[in-house]
Amino acid sequence: MTEIRSTCPYCGVGCGVLLKRDTAGGLEIRGDPDHPANRGRLCSKGSALGETLGLEGRLLSPQVNGIESGWDETLQLVADRFKQTVADHGPDSVAFYVSGQMLTEDYYVANKLMKGFIGSANIDTNSRLCMASTVAGHRRAFGTDTVPGTYDDLDEADLVVLVGSNLAWCHPVLFQRVLTARKARGTKLVVIDPRRTASCDGADLHLPLAIGSDVALFNVLLTEIRRAAADNPDALARVEGSAETFAAAAATDPSVTGLDEAQLRAFCKLWIGHEKVVTIFSQGVNQSSAGTDKVNAILNCHIATGRIGKPGMGPFSVTGQPNAMGGREVGGLANMLACHMALENPAHRSAVRTFWNAPQIPDRPGLKAVDMFRAVDEGRIKALWIMHSNPAVTLPQADAVREAIAACPFTVVSDITGNTDTARLAHVLLPASAWGEKSGTVTNSDRTISRQRAALPAPGKARPDWWQMADVGRRMGWSGEFDYTGPAEIFREHAALSGIAGGFGLDFDISALAAISDAEYDTLRPTRWPVAAKRGGRFFADGKSFHEDGRLRMIALTPRGPAAAPSASYPFRLNTGRIRDQWHTMTRTGRSPRLSAHLAEPFAEIHPSDAARLGIAADTLVRLTSPSGRAILRAQITDAVQPETVFAPMHWTGETAPSGRIDALVASAIDPVSGQPESKAALCDLQPY
Ligand code: SF4
Repeated sequence: MTEIRSTCPYCGVGCGVLLKRDTAGGLEIRGDPDHPANRGRLCSKGSALGETLGLEGRLLSPQVNGIESGWDETLQLVADRFKQTVADHGPDSVAFYVSGQMLTEDYYVANKLMKGFIGSANIDTNSRLCMASTVAGHRRAFGTDTVPGTYDDLDEADLVVLVGSNLAWCHPVLFQRVLTARKARGTKLVVIDPRRTASCDGADLHLPLAIGSDVALFNVLLTEIRRAAADNPDALARVEGSAETFAAAAATDPSVTGLDEAQLRAFCKLWIGHEKVVTIFSQGVNQSSAGTDKVNAILNCHIATGRIGKPGMGPFSVTGQPNAMGGREVGGLANMLACHMALENPAHRSAVRTFWNAPQIPDRPGLKAVDMFRAVDEGRIKALWIMHSNPAVTLPQADAVREAIAACPFTVVSDITGNTDTARLAHVLLPASAWGEKSGTVTNSDRTISRQRAALPAPGKARPDWWQMADVGRRMGWSGEFDYTGPAEIFREHAALSGIAGGFGLDFDISALAAISDAEYDTLRPTRWPVAAKRGGRFFADGKSFHEDGRLRMIALTPRGPAAAPSASYPFRLNTGRIRDQWHTMTRTGRSPRLSAHLAEPFAEIHPSDAARLGIAADTLVRLTSPSGRAILRAQITDAVQPETVFAPMHWTGETAPSGRIDALVASAIDPVSGQPESKAALCDLQPY
């Protein structure tokens, strides 16, 4: 059998994979040597994909209140309940919570159904927990949510700076690319992270900054850039806000960073001394109540020096999920419209409404993730459809979110399993096709659109997400607008709509793909946008932005720390994150013995001085307590974390270790611009168990 080209469903690197049916009915998987993201490489998670495809625990039939049901009656029930709820309480009484695991075509139908036809913007995604601050920072600086550079820049950079990114564990194939460049051309590596991670091994410099002090650090750099006359007058001539930004940066107290003068000097010298610098940032930047400011603090330095959109240089956001970017492109966030058009722009709303033949488009943002589940808790959301996400584990104050979902009058969950903390609370379960069974596209962190292709038949009654939502749309009364025959037709519609965005002068325009045939869609090779590559596949080297005046923006920033300060009751900062071999709440990776052998149980990294003071021995159990929850974890004593801080992984759920649900402890503080929760600076107490 010939191999089928597809894309790994885990992180935003978006590695190409080759799939081949094995004799046992599963899949043999290897890296695709022709995919530009990975050139044949795979990390441990990608190479173990074949071990995660078994049907044990799969949801194989629709269920209503725990009883198996047929598709016809189940989807009619979903359509009737959503329609009745909207009729009784208005469109803002319903909500969709979707996922960066979904394919672009699925995302497109969800966004169209909610924003165009139900008439609410109450659709948000678990990408809100991942990169919403980057979206907001990009829009402030560039006028659109545009990633300026490409992965190729990692091969050409002389300095790579990782900020709040454990690239070695969370985007391993990209990290390998950085290591290859180090070997080939001596690329320097700086890691900025409060915690010493695997990414620090062999780095030229690790800056263990105080949690939440990134804005102060990059303000210090910006001030030093000006002092050293390393700013670029030609670039600055095309920038708004530079004078205020330099002034705000100069007022920053460097001691806020917790770094000494030698460390700050070494960092500034490296950054200023290498023109070809790529600054990669991830969740340590995004998951903060000042996340948007952190993003703009990084962008400010690249804009001021003109080091953006050119080979080997630029700020670079790496996304957590396989299709966080595709979700951004279709407008799957509550504050976006479609194809990077803006909900607040009447011309954009009118154009999308006409294109969709929609009765209405909301003129204001919907509820972002944390607010959405607060509204569920308060009874304002009365019908909720959750797709491919497990918010009862992953949202801040997870215990309260679990109670809110349990009390919601009508909850639908689409997933591949009914055995998650969230699915067990649903009234209706809809069996979804899994990776390896479904077809569509995803967009990775460098704007490359790749196909996911089906290589296995969907088991039982499992169906693709687009099929489920289109059916509900038709049953709610919009038959012509949701009469899709397959993902290729949806992709063509999405691409055609992007041409309208292009007509408004926006960045996301893939309308060159709007007329592709089904056969061309089937064989579509990885395609980075801008499809016509008028700008060499990069943006902003010419200093032109997508703001109305065409000018880039620097944002004046005053550093502010995490939302809450430690107290006598909760003296520890809790930092949460991923481990190398698990993904999200382990629905798939937890099936692989090989992956589970890496780190078998939830743990807390504790500094030796705290362990000694509290009488905590290595490998004993500790109790973490916060105002919103508690967890019991295995102590790992290590000076990789700073005193009075604790690191704990975010993967474990109520199923595998009831005490390991770490997001139960995280407060619901959010960034005021992006709405992203502060998942890396919660407060807790720590005691032996
Ligand atoms: Fe999959 Fe990411 Fe690993 Fe690539 S780096 S194989 S996309 S998990």
